[in-house]
Amino acid sequence: MAYVDDVLEVVRKKDADEPEFVQTVTEILDSLRPLIEKDEEKYRSHALLERLVEPEKIIGFRIPWEDDEGKIHVNRGWKIQYSSAIGPYKGGIRFSPEVTLGTLKFLAFEQTFKNSLTGLPIGGGKGGSDFDPQGKSDRELMRFCQSFMTGLYHYIGANMDCPAGDLGCGGTEIGYMFGQYKRLINTYESGVLSGKPVASGGIVGRDTATGYGAVYFMEKLLADKGCKIEGMKFALSGFGNVAWGVAKKLVELGGKVVALSGPDGYVHIPDGMTADQVDYMLEMRASRRNKVKDFADKYGVYFAANEKPWGRVKADAYVPCATQNDISMKEAMRITSEGTCKFLIEVANMPTTPDGIEVLKKAGITVAPYKAVNAGGVAVSAMEMSQNAEKGVWTLEKVDKKLRDIMTNIYDSIVAAAEKYGKSGDLIAGANLAAAEKVLKAMEEQGVC
Ligand code: GLU
Repeated sequence: MAYVDDVLEVVRKKDADEPEFVQTVTEILDSLRPLIEKDEEKYRSHALLERLVEPEKIIGFRIPWEDDEGKIHVNRGWKIQYSSAIGPYKGGIRFSPEVTLGTLKFLAFEQTFKNSLTGLPIGGGKGGSDFDPQGKSDRELMRFCQSFMTGLYHYIGANMDCPAGDLGCGGTEIGYMFGQYKRLINTYESGVLSGKPVASGGIVGRDTATGYGAVYFMEKLLADKGCKIEGMKFALSGFGNVAWGVAKKLVELGGKVVALSGPDGYVHIPDGMTADQVDYMLEMRASRRNKVKDFADKYGVYFAANEKPWGRVKADAYVPCATQNDISMKEAMRITSEGTCKFLIEVANMPTTPDGIEVLKKAGITVAPYKAVNAGGVAVSAMEMSQNAEKGVWTLEKVDKKLRDIMTNIYDSIVAAAEKYGKSGDLIAGANLAAAEKVLKAMEEQGVC
């Protein structure tokens, strides 16, 4: 049996209780076949894939915190230090009641590849808690973040593991965590966290980095396909930080953002969002109500309760910016029968199920993979690490230029990797191959560790 199949069989058995992890490992290893088959004996004898599918470390801890009424709550926290092959562990912290160890493991595995694609020296990690930030007061959030950091601080450091934000964890939460870290270690070590507020050592442009980076990637892809953003219609899911950055840049470049969504449904804005409406997304997020209906109430646009925009809203490109497995086979079939969508630009992590992707690809829709498209966030985080290490302050121009260069290079490198391994035009395979080449090479160079 092929080496990839042997390893997949073991993962399916060992990690059967972590379906998202099994899903992503299967998808990635499958697409690495052309790389592995070039020298299967070498990869097998070094047990490179067995090591790749096992995180270096998993840390778990208890997070007790007190609410405004004096009631004590206990949440669970985890830190996955997945791979340090090409740099210190790097990745976001997710706060959501849906977080499980399995979710974080899948995200950390993915992060390892995404970080490799940036071309910067950052390894892969992820952290989080099953804490629900929705409806919490600012003080409750602060007490929770302080307790989370108390459980975590032993295991992180500027050259060891540098977490950032992710779903449910933005600049405010990172600021509280940084304050607590400083108290605990009695040193101003700002490089320990990225995505910090700017006055606390954060880098300018980190808040828009994931969204802007995704749009820079799109510009390059669309140009390759003879299209341009101006005048095109984009339907987004989500309305959080990432969707906001995407919408802001698209509107600036003359694109029409015709849909947004939330856990309660979607809104349809047939003429496209205005810049003011994009700004309102920040207020919606700050309210922590997590309801996109607020947008419909304010601007008098159509709201569809408990539905997703996929295949229901006419758009040239669908841009999922929310959470994993948002587009399954059912939505993919609705998209293809609706017929206007030509591009699926994945911005959220793993927003499309593998069978959904198959349906879209068969219908001739170009799928741009999230691990390339959303790498701008972590790339600017790595710039923040450099800024903190040199005890300097970077300008927005410098950050934006570097971000645009990185996104362009990512596009070129995945197109080239797809071609090199006989997968021309397959951006998903290209991204996995380009990312894995570097990680596997570094693992081989560092011996059995
Ligand atoms: N959570 C973001 C991601 O998934 C950012 C991670 C970081 O900046 O370290 O890439």
